[in-house]
Amino acid sequence: MRNVVIIGSGCAGNTAAIYSARANLKPLVVSGHEAGGQLSLTTLVENFPGFPEGINGPDLVENMKKQAQNFGAEYLHGAVMDTDFSSRPFRLNIEGEWIETRTVIIASGASARWLGLENEQKLIGHGVSSCATCDGFFYRNKRIMVIGGGDSAMEEANFLTRFGRDVTVVHRREEFRASKIMLDRARHNPKIQFMTNTVVDDIYDVSKNVVTGVRLRNLKTGEAWDQEVDGFFLAIGHIPNTKIFKGQIETDADGYILSKGGARTNISGVFHAGDVQDRTYRQAITAAGAGCMAAIEVERYLEAEGH
Ligand SMILES: Cc1cc2nc3c(=O)[nH]c(=O)nc-3n(C[C@H](O)[C@H](O)[C@H](O)COP(=O)(O)OP(=O)(O)OC[C@H]3O[C@@H](n4cnc5c(N)ncnc54)[C@H](O)[C@@H]3O)c2cc1C
Repeated sequence: MRNVVIIGSGCAGNTAAIYSARANLKPLVVSGHEAGGQLSLTTLVENFPGFPEGINGPDLVENMKKQAQNFGAEYLHGAVMDTDFSSRPFRLNIEGEWIETRTVIIASGASARWLGLENEQKLIGHGVSSCATCDGFFYRNKRIMVIGGGDSAMEEANFLTRFGRDVTVVHRREEFRASKIMLDRARHNPKIQFMTNTVVDDIYDVSKNVVTGVRLRNLKTGEAWDQEVDGFFLAIGHIPNTKIFKGQIETDADGYILSKGGARTNISGVFHAGDVQDRTYRQAITAAGAGCMAAIEVERYLEAEGH
């Protein structure tokens, strides 16, 4: 019987592991198929406090993991496949084997939606990004492209005009999903151009390990052309990793966990941390902070139960 199982090994899960390990709870962290979480996909992280020169994303999460292991946290490869939160102790199916635990911290994150192009995946962190707040700074006076037609695409495009020479919003439809106010703001921004009915067929240049341009295609005319670009930002949404909790943990319509205050979910003893609940900030530091909150709540919860 475990005191606490932490689902996910990103910033939220690792921070929850540091705190709960230091509280002598001997946490078990189930790493998931993306060990280290989203930061393992990126290169330089310049906005995590404590690193004046910045730090590579994979190093940052690996350091967090080592820190947690130093205090006795255990890490398990593999993913949680199924959960039974209907009674206590809670039961988790990890790669086919059921284990029991008094509490659970869900830190399974949210994955950015990508276009699914082969070269896009190869250039993540080298010009391809899903986070303007994180990476906009690297594109001072550069040509930026934003993909999407919703509010987040407009927000990211507006934000990126602080850095880029120009920002082109590429959208596959004629109409935008974005709210009128967000769309108007983008339309009135002289640095933003729009390209509608247009899709991206390829991204260059994998041989140089950096984004230099894209292949675009107009869906109405069929015309295809290459365009030079330095920063390629996806803003087509995120998918919270909550499928395995469906019907047990309350979520909003998009699958983000609904918080019941602090780090609490609708089930007493199951807590949330990080991007799996946060559709607003989605940063390493906020995820880490949420991991700290969840671990403190677990500690108090178990203490109140006499463990
Ligand atoms: C390319 C990129 C660059 C970024 N750059 C920055 C930056 O510079 N600064 C910044 O502050 N933020 C940045 N971010 C955002 C930041 O990475 C996230 O906000 C942060 O990682 C969220 O942490 P998390 O722990 O909540 O979730 P995640 O990092 O998404 O981690 C989720 C974890 O859950 C695991 N998991 C999922 N399902 C299961 C399951 N069924 N069983 C077990 N485990 C599971 C995954 O394997 C993963 O380990 C960037 C994101 C991306 C994609």
